[in-house]
Amino acid sequence: MKKRTIILYWILLFVPTCIIGISAFYMIRHEQERINQEAVSSAKVRARTMADAISATVETVEDAFIESLNAIPNPLVYKTLLDWVDANPLVRNVFVWDKEKGLQYPLAGATATSEENRFIVRYEALFSGRISWQAAGSSRNEAFGSSSSDKELPGRNFSSLVQETRKFKSGRQALKDLAQGRYESEGKNLLVEAVTSVGEGGWIPWFEENRLHILGWFQKRPDSAVYGIELETMTLLSRIIADFPKEVSDGIVYAIVDGKGEILHQIGNGMIQTGTPSDQFVSLAPFLPHWQINVYMSNGMLPIESEKGFLILASLLLVIFLASIILGGLLLTRQAQRNMIDAMQKTSFVSSVSHELKTPLTSIRMYAELLEEGRIKDTEKMRRYLKVIVAESQRLTRLVNNVLDFSRLEQGRKTYHKELFNLAEYVRTILQAHRLRIREAGMNLIDEVPDEIISVELDRDGIEQVLLNLIDNALKYVTEGGELLITLKRKDKHCEISVMDRGSGIPPAHRKKIFDRFHRVDNSLTSIRPGSGLGLSISKKIMLDLGGDILYEPRPGGGSCFIVIVPCASTETILQNPDQL
Ligand code: ADP
Repeated sequence: MKKRTIILYWILLFVPTCIIGISAFYMIRHEQERINQEAVSSAKVRARTMADAISATVETVEDAFIESLNAIPNPLVYKTLLDWVDANPLVRNVFVWDKEKGLQYPLAGATATSEENRFIVRYEALFSGRISWQAAGSSRNEAFGSSSSDKELPGRNFSSLVQETRKFKSGRQALKDLAQGRYESEGKNLLVEAVTSVGEGGWIPWFEENRLHILGWFQKRPDSAVYGIELETMTLLSRIIADFPKEVSDGIVYAIVDGKGEILHQIGNGMIQTGTPSDQFVSLAPFLPHWQINVYMSNGMLPIESEKGFLILASLLLVIFLASIILGGLLLTRQAQRNMIDAMQKTSFVSSVSHELKTPLTSIRMYAELLEEGRIKDTEKMRRYLKVIVAESQRLTRLVNNVLDFSRLEQGRKTYHKELFNLAEYVRTILQAHRLRIREAGMNLIDEVPDEIISVELDRDGIEQVLLNLIDNALKYVTEGGELLITLKRKDKHCEISVMDRGSGIPPAHRKKIFDRFHRVDNSLTSIRPGSGLGLSISKKIMLDLGGDILYEPRPGGGSCFIVIVPCASTETILQNPDQL
């Protein structure tokens, strides 16, 4: 594959990968933003539902109190109000005020409780007549006019108020009962009177040191006394929120916060500090002015935080995605290169084999033609020519055997015929058969094969093929002659046949690779010697199949040393077949 083609493939792989990765990143980011916004808006909707429930309940309670105030018969005003302040937890203080005479109850001084004295001081502006009741009540309208509530506000005509029909929820109904209960416990149904009477009343939100107080007043006729109650807001709130769900989505906290920023009640887990600002809030005005429900989103739910986490996650995914594509690309490129090398090796293998076949065939043909012509009369010469023909045809056979073995080994079809024999004797026989050929090639064969029985259970042909491959290589690659030392040594459970020459040896970088198929050391020697790069790989495979191995090590003093490791036969096998040795 050309370099330009590889670069083109990489561009084709990389550019779409980046485009997909970046678009995926943006899409996930967009989706995350949408989910965040949905979470925020659904939390806000929930807060608004809570706010509406609180407002509706406060309004119901207020309406019920106004009804009750209206229903009190004139002679019973004092008694009823005092009963309420004693027994109704929603009532904090009560009062009776006359335009002419001023405050009738409670009276400041030693007889009043400290709470009553504080109450008198708190509403001094009203009780002194500086601010009219109507004007104070209407401030609820002005101050909180921005409220989303379009309900009729206090300060309105009572007759319209009592005619309203409302459906109350059970909790709200209980509070309403409480607002009316004290009066009804008298056993008189004075509400009948209330429906027919026309009076004026309302509710005044009052702030003292930024604390909210709610004062309800009622006046039966324009010239009659004004009387009313101050609501116990905390009791009211605690009763309302008792009905609220305790469980909310993880990471979201709803907090009811007063005008000072203090948290009065919290729904959801999470530590929220007083005064922590919140982007999302719903006001509880006009019924509870300055109070609001804050929505806090924690645990990575806040858009900014979740975005950070999301960015890290998305980047990580993108990196993994890109890395896997690049890795896949690298593996494919490597595989393609390997296939390319394989194809090249196979092509060169075909030409090498043809070349190797051609050399012995040429000599065989040449000597056979000479003999056929009958011009050679010298018997000695004739014998030599015939010997060359035999040797060359044997070489041809070995070569063809190697090629056949290669295809058999590649397809896993090679079969071995194992038998028990004496390896020392067998090696000696092989060397004897090739001694002359070795000498004629200019090498001096020294065999150090011990005169003892070394029993092996192997395939004879396999061992012979391995040995002849090593001897042929020595003859082929050692141009300067010298000794060819072949030794056989018994080790513990195996024996070693070493084939050593005094040639140039194998360069370190090629020592492992020479056992790979088609691998030839790229030097001047291999360029002039025909070869297919198969001999050593076939020999190694045969030896591994027979339970042995072949190793290469440089020979001390120069040259190559190939060590053939052969497993010895077990004593059991020897004892079972003693006559085969
Ligand atoms: P071939 O001889 O057909 O090339 P082999 O697998 O038998 O294939 O050998 C692989 C390579 O190892 C040879 O091409 C040669 O470069 C190197 N080689 C093998 N034996 C020797 C040796 N005795 N001395 C030097 N180089 C050798």
